[in-house]
Amino acid sequence: MNELLKKSATEQSQALKNKEISAVELTNAAFERIDELDEKLGAFNSLTKEIALNTAKKVDEKIAKGEELPLLAGVPLALKDNMNLKGSKTTASSKILENFVSPFNATVTDKLLGNLVPIVGKANLDEFAMGSSNENSAFKKVHNPWDLKKVPGGSSGGSAASVAACEATLALGSDTGGSIRLPASFCGIVGMKPTYGRVSRYGLIAFASSLDQIGPFARTVEDAANLLEVISGHDPKDSTSLDLPVEHYAASLNNDIKGMKVGVIKELMTEGLSEDVQKAMERAIEDYKKLGAEIVEISLPNLKHSIGIYYILATAECSSNLARFDGVRYGYRTPDAQNLMEMYTKSRAEGFGPEVKRRIMLGTYALSSGYYDAYYKKAQQMRALVTQDFVEAFKKADILISPTCPNTAFELGAKASDPLAMYLTDIATISANLAGIPGMSVPAGFDKDGMPIGLQILAPQLQESRLFNAAHKFERANDYYLKLANI
Ligand code: GLN
Repeated sequence: MNELLKKSATEQSQALKNKEISAVELTNAAFERIDELDEKLGAFNSLTKEIALNTAKKVDEKIAKGEELPLLAGVPLALKDNMNLKGSKTTASSKILENFVSPFNATVTDKLLGNLVPIVGKANLDEFAMGSSNENSAFKKVHNPWDLKKVPGGSSGGSAASVAACEATLALGSDTGGSIRLPASFCGIVGMKPTYGRVSRYGLIAFASSLDQIGPFARTVEDAANLLEVISGHDPKDSTSLDLPVEHYAASLNNDIKGMKVGVIKELMTEGLSEDVQKAMERAIEDYKKLGAEIVEISLPNLKHSIGIYYILATAECSSNLARFDGVRYGYRTPDAQNLMEMYTKSRAEGFGPEVKRRIMLGTYALSSGYYDAYYKKAQQMRALVTQDFVEAFKKADILISPTCPNTAFELGAKASDPLAMYLTDIATISANLAGIPGMSVPAGFDKDGMPIGLQILAPQLQESRLFNAAHKFERANDYYLKLANI
């Protein structure tokens, strides 16, 4: 492997500017790495060589002319395969979209191309982003670069694995209930979910629209901050996107955090925590104390309801969002229907995988007349209580910390036949989506088998700069982030 692939985006940008390597060479190096590795890893559904190399050429032209480069120009990136990139397949890892070629770009894609970021391929995911292990892809499983027998986490498993294995330096994922933070934690990298509305969802295949948010993966906090800056901003094509100026998030990274109040979420520190994760949390608390932060204990009394709330709201929203896949307008159509109704039902029955069908049925049930008040409406009310818990918590603390997940990556197949056990993996991450607040996972050590552990940090809405600051200080107090998967 070209050694430069192991470096951060900041270092790669510098190498490009210094003409140590050209952008085309760097992009080709990423493709060589993918060619040698991805058969084992399964991180990519498809590669977009032509698009990536065209972008890289433009970077080299700019360098040759002595022009200034936009942020992250020339740095190889993997795009989760539920975001549209014109002229490439966007499958959401579903059979129903297996041959769908995007006729347009997502807003994030336009922004990446505008900054001349080479998009090397479309990263594997759980079908329609539903899952926590990436085992729900209709095409192939993703393997964890730290141990190929283990899952990379989901649903953005391909994005996380590609960055952890240095196939790409950066990636985008989507996070509806933890799908960026969980795989970041399992793969030992940084993953960040911004405030709801910070990044446009236009061109992201919708799962649960009130929870979905696109965000960055990287191997350093600084890289994640820069990638968020590139993709953020108001978009008239997404009415939920916030019309607020985008900050230069990396500017705050080195701010002193002396006196910062770090709240430890009580409810996430006890139940079901593995011993190694527990120890990592104790170390993290000590690190923050050494950095001059003040540790406070925080209770989120309604957190215990968050999984129940999520699996009503997210499934309700997905049952409506996925109604558009009917064999008429998009993707797969059954070849042997006798009439219109059969065409709908057979196309959907043959096109969707088992987890997606389970969610559609759960969501349709929760929304149906007679049950709406008992389930959907009640869940909406409970969502408000979870949000209120955070409002109270942030009166006492500037940021909150917890493990990203109570355990490290598990073996492939270990939870595949038990949906409830799989759903419980998201206990620490889901509430941030319900409340719309930003959160991230940062490497926080390793368990006894050498598998990465993630520290989750949460901040109030739109306090991304504070979040990056607290995460960067923690990252640089340790050297976990420098350790790469030996693959
Ligand atoms: N694991 C959760 C689910 O299966 C979250 C997925 C996500 O964030 N996209 O729904």
